Parts: sequence; structure tokens; C-alpha cells
Amino acid sequence: MAGRILIADDVATNRIVLKVKLTAACYEVLQASGGAEALRCAREDGPDLILLDQRLTDIDGVAVCKRLKEDPQTARIPVIIITAHNDNPSKIAALRAGADEFLTKPLDDLILLARVRSLLRARDTVEELHLRDNTSRALGFAEVTSHFTAPASIAMIAATPVTAMAWKTGLGKATHDNIVVTAKEQALAQNSAEKAPDVFVIACDLAKHDDGLRLMSELRSRPETRHSSILMVIPKGATSKAASALDLGASDLVFEGFDPEEMALRVKTQVRRKQQADRLRETMRDGLRMAVIDPLTNLYNRRYAMPHLARIAERAKTKHRPYAVMVLDIDRFKAVNDTYGHAAGDAVLQEVATRLKDNLRGVDMVARIGGEEFLVAMPDTQLDEARRTAERLCRVINEHPVELRSGKGVVQVSLSIGVAMGGLRSDTRTVEQLIDCADKALFLSKSDGRNQVTFSRTAA
Ligand code: GH3
Ligand code: MG
Ligand code: MG
Repeated sequence: MAGRILIADDVATNRIVLKVKLTAACYEVLQASGGAEALRCAREDGPDLILLDQRLTDIDGVAVCKRLKEDPQTARIPVIIITAHNDNPSKIAALRAGADEFLTKPLDDLILLARVRSLLRARDTVEELHLRDNTSRALGFAEVTSHFTAPASIAMIAATPVTAMAWKTGLGKATHDNIVVTAKEQALAQNSAEKAPDVFVIACDLAKHDDGLRLMSELRSRPETRHSSILMVIPKGATSKAASALDLGASDLVFEGFDPEEMALRVKTQVRRKQQADRLRETMRDGLRMAVIDPLTNLYNRRYAMPHLARIAERAKTKHRPYAVMVLDIDRFKAVNDTYGHAAGDAVLQEVATRLKDNLRGVDMVARIGGEEFLVAMPDTQLDEARRTAERLCRVINEHPVELRSGKGVVQVSLSIGVAMGGLRSDTRTVEQLIDCADKALFLSKSDGRNQVTFSRTAA
């Protein structure tokens, strides 16, 4: 099924007509014959979208919509209010109540279905982001931060500057967001270094017919502007254009001759959605980062290191190039803790991490895989280079003692390293086995007096 849609209408024939259309498009249909029943069904059955008649006998449709949007459990379900009266005040009231769209009877099938598809798509994105957000919270990362919402940026692209200025003036009265009038070329010149507008308002026809539509699909396909909301302005009565705009990825649309308040309300909704989605993406990125980064040293942790090493191994196999795996362990680290305290031990770990990172190439990976144990993976590396690097790492740790803060003295530190070479011809070892070999070589470095490098014998 493409999605579950709740139809709330007190006239049975209306429900049946809608049900036939939606079932033909493979949607599952739920029905409610009044406002109270619609509210209950929304809570209990969690439909993906609600088609709500404006005139219900028990509770008015706009009031039902308002309650749905106020209830956190149902707030994210898109609502289309359907009415027999195409008057602006009712439309504004519906949009104010949080309705996602307002359609007038008789319903145009093309528009209805395109609108349903586009709202379901938007809902999928929001649900996906919420799901990931909840997952990262459940795993203990991603703090819930209270965000200050900066003013949004809105870019308007109309066929003529006069029209764009008129839109701007109309919208400017209703919002404190930054509105700029721009041109198609400028919108396309957007680069990744600057922040893309939160919302584009674009006329369907620009210098050429449908130029605005083409601009929209172009903006949708580019990484810089992919997440921006796009509100299309459609010529009056051009229903098939409206339907294609929605299918090509318009976030919302208005028909020419709109009331400025309608545009303002629609833009406001888009701004809210965009900022919410941005916020969710951000927490997710932080969450993912925190899942793979060791907070003390800022190095990758084991969870990141293992799959990364597996990828290096795979690439080495296809490219027939060797790679090096090193296990590094700080010598007599327990004594550092015992002598200088745990905080000094932490400072030593941080300094060692910095020195390791500073002395490796950008393509090399360094991870903290244990208390005072590190893993280095060097893709595309011959034995000699691995040896030189490992010896350099021993040297940079050992040649300068680590200075403790506020004159608490200096700590002499050294490192023992075990190295195993991977990706050599006829080598069938897995990355785990390779690490095992490096570990055994490390043990030899330790038993041989520490502060030295040993290669696993299989390769050396
Ligand atoms: P060896 O040369 O044989 O490796 O001796 P060692 O003392 O380094 O090895 P051992 O495994 O006996 O001790 C490791 C110590 O590392 C024990 C533990 O208290 C300390 N350690 C592990 N994680 C941390 C940490 O995050 N911070 C601090 N300060 N110490 C840590
Ligand atoms: Mg150890
Ligand atoms: Mg140690």
C-alpha cells in the first residue's frame, strides 16, 4: 500500500467517491463520519494523511485540524481540508489552523492525487528524521538543545521585478524573515560555501513558459539547494501544471491572484518545516559523530576503525596495493597514572593522540581502540614506508616529554608498536587476523624492551 488515508466527511456518498479515487491509486482508506471520530481514528490508527471536510456536523473541520496539530501524537500527520466554498477567509482560517492544503469541491483528481503524493513524500522525510533522532537519543547521544531560531531567508524569483517586489511587499508585512528578490541565474549559481535560502518562491513561467518549473527541478537535484523548500506560483486554473509542479518536487504552491496572507501563511509553514528538518539533520550528524569519535582524544573509536579498516582492505585487494596496520601501546602507562594522577594520564593520552595525528598522512586512519592503545591504518603503503612511519611515531612520542599543565612537571613517554602488512599477494588473512598479527608483534616490542617497532613475521 502506498499509504493510509483517513477520510472524514459526514456525507457517506462523499466518502465513497473519494474512497474510489484513492483506492484506485492504491491507497488504503480509513473513514470517519464526524470530527470526534476523526480525532479518535487519527490517534488510534495513525493514518499517513487526513482528508478533512470543512463542514462536519459535530465539530467544525477547521477546529478538528487545530486539535490534530496541537496534539504531539497527531501533529505531524498532513491534513487537507476540503470545502464546497472557495472563499479566501475560509482558506486563510484553514491554513492558520495548520492545514497543509485547502481544496475546493468539485475536486480535481489530478491536483488531489499530486497533492497527496507530495504531502506523503514530505511526511516520509520528517518521519525518517524523527526516527533517527529518537534512535540517537535512545543510544545516549544527541542532546536535546533549545535552539534560537534565526530569521529564515526567502528568495523570490518572479517573471518581472515588479511582480517580485509586489510579492516581497505583501510577504514583508507578515514576517521578519529576510526576503530577497533574485534571478534564476543567481539561484543556480548557489555554491556550497554559502547557505542556501530556506525557501524559494518561484513563478511557474519566467522568461519562457515553464522556466520556473525547470528551475525548480534543477534546484531539487543540486546538493546545495536540495533541502530548501520551494513554493511555486502557478497561473490561475493551470491545474495540470500545478500537479506536475508537485510531482517534480514543489513543497507547496499558490495560484496567481492569491491573497498576500495566504502566501505568508504558506511560506511560514515551509520555513517551520525546513528549520525543523535542518535541526533534526544537525542533531543526527552530531549523534553520528559522537558515536564514532572518542571524546577524550577526538580520535576515531573502534566502532569506526573496524569497518574503515575493512574498506581499506577491500580497496587494497582490487588495486593490488599493500597497506599497513599498526597497533600502538603506550609503555608503562599505569605508572604515569600512579605517579602523576589520572588527569595527567588523560593529558598524556591527548598529547600522544595529537602527535600521532600530526605525523600521519591525511589518508591514514588513527583510532583509539583501548585505554592506551591505538590503531593506525595506512592505505597504499609499502613495507619500507610503514617502517619509516612507525619509527618516526616512536621518535616523536619519545623525543620530547609531555608537559603537564600549570607547571605540574613533565612526563617522559614512549610507545611500542607492532606492524602487520596487508593486501600482499596470496595473503588471505582477514583484517581481524591482521590486527592479531600486529598485536603479537607489539608483544615482542614490549618484551624486547619497549619504545620500538616490530613487524609481524609473515610480512617482514
Ligand atoms: P605496558 O608497557 O606493558 O603496556 O604497561 P602499561 O602500564 O601501559 O599497561 P597496563 O595495561 O598495565 O596499564 C594500562 C593503564 O592505562 C591502566 C589504566 O588505568 C590506564 N588507562 C586506561 N584508560 C585510561 C584513561 O582513559 N585515562 C587514564 N588516565 N588512564 C587510563
Ligand atoms: Mg595496553
Ligand atoms: Mg601500555
